[in-house]
Amino acid sequence: MKHRITFIPGDGVGPELSDAAKRCIEAAAAAAGVEIEWDVFDAGIDVIEKYGTPLPEHVLASIKKNKVAIKGPITTPIGTGIRSVNVELRRALELYACLRPCRLYKGVRTRYDKVDIVIVRENTEDLYAGVEFDPNTPDCKKVIENINSLSKKQIRLDSAISIKPISKFGTERVVRFAFEYALKNNRKKVTCVHKANIMKATDGLFLATAREVAERYAGKIAFEDRLVDNLCMQLVQRPEEYDMLVFPNLYGDIVSDLCAGLVGGLGVAPGANIGDDAAVFEATHGSAPKYKGMNKVNPTALILSGVLMLRHIGEDKAAERLENAVKRVISDGKYVTYDLKAERNDPTAVGTREMAEAIIKAL
Ligand code: NAD
Repeated sequence: MKHRITFIPGDGVGPELSDAAKRCIEAAAAAAGVEIEWDVFDAGIDVIEKYGTPLPEHVLASIKKNKVAIKGPITTPIGTGIRSVNVELRRALELYACLRPCRLYKGVRTRYDKVDIVIVRENTEDLYAGVEFDPNTPDCKKVIENINSLSKKQIRLDSAISIKPISKFGTERVVRFAFEYALKNNRKKVTCVHKANIMKATDGLFLATAREVAERYAGKIAFEDRLVDNLCMQLVQRPEEYDMLVFPNLYGDIVSDLCAGLVGGLGVAPGANIGDDAAVFEATHGSAPKYKGMNKVNPTALILSGVLMLRHIGEDKAAERLENAVKRVISDGKYVTYDLKAERNDPTAVGTREMAEAIIKAL
């Protein structure tokens, strides 16, 4: 079968990782009799001069048409006022569920024996909604005065304000996504993570809504909840006790990196942003600018994002073939990048390109 997919190479280490991942995905697809055609488009700071925006309309239009995209990481410059392309993509396409499977592969350097956790993070609300007010501006003062007139708690007038909206609608759909994923992928338990003891309004609503959704799956998928601080300690001590985790946006972002650390680091942590009408697949890590152009970083995270993408478009055979090839190369331990070697400065570590070639050979 033929699929047309939008490809955004990204910046920093993005282009070299994208090249490696694209070749692996194409080879696995071809071996399984699947044809993929790419619509390749750039986004990020490098296209601002040409299009006046880091996320040109034609890139969004391509993803809307193809319904599936894969992207390399894109840098978000700090202190320039330029909004993150990654956050903007999720907002513009309503990609409300961020999916991050954290599975430990044999041969990866880690302190654990068994980790197989799937993270589902709400992607559009919470402190990432982008509703913010800089300190000492007229708008910020107005917001503070309004809040001070409505609340017994008083906010200092020289404060900056970031708003944390969490809705029943937004929570309902992301928790439903987690349970549906659990059903389809033979997972047994969903844990809702929150801080409802302190943020009774926002996290309280997230937990209450999750409990309501969980009732619809009673008898099929188990449900429990944890405070986020307690969960972090337990994940470090006993990660094998967790199956699927569902989070509001901010905790999900932070705990995703914690779980990536449990399974060998950002170099092996894939991800996907999924909505009702489109899905964008990308690694958990960023553009690692200090390694740009060095053919050094690990392509596994983006290749495994490609595995998630192949499953999403129904090409399970190609997905399994690619995942098994990645497993073989990692457990063999020879043609792997520096981060997968026992010593980070092991001179036998190979580059991005060479690891991808080994994966293609192992297909
Ligand atoms: P980062 O993930 O880019 O890098 C942090 C460190 O993790 C690197 O220095 C490196 O040691 C390690 N690392 C990351 N990817 C690796 C790989 N594939 N193989 C081996 N090691 C790897 O995080 P950062 O430095 O905080 O962010 C850099 C830029 O990326 C920022 O502009 C940030 O906004 C952006 N970012 C983009 C995305 C995205 O595109 N979805 C996600 C996160 C961060």
